[in-house]
Amino acid sequence: MDIRLVRGTAANIVERWERQYHKTADTEKSEITKKLRAFHSPSVEEVEKIIGNESWTKVWCGSCLEYKASCVQIGSGDETVTVCATCLACAALLLRECGT
Ligand SMILES: [Zn+2]
Repeated sequence: MDIRLVRGTAANIVERWERQYHKTADTEKSEITKKLRAFHSPSVEEVEKIIGNESWTKVWCGSCLEYKASCVQIGSGDETVTVCATCLACAALLLRECGT
């Protein structure tokens, strides 16, 4: 089993955004592309403000269903789960309480 840290980031946001939306006819997406290009190296907060959500800069916890700055991904290949520190702490507490 593999456990690895996954961190949200604003790095390479223009390249990532354009890879997703390079052929879009959606003018809203094109406007976001222009705004992102205007920054040399936008911060997480700036990217979230431009795009309007945290999906490009944070990591989704599959347990509490919230975006987090970082999570751990457990498993390998197609069989993985991504979980935040709070959810892991709750899981560890449950295991401790049941004595295993
Ligand atoms: Zn969580």
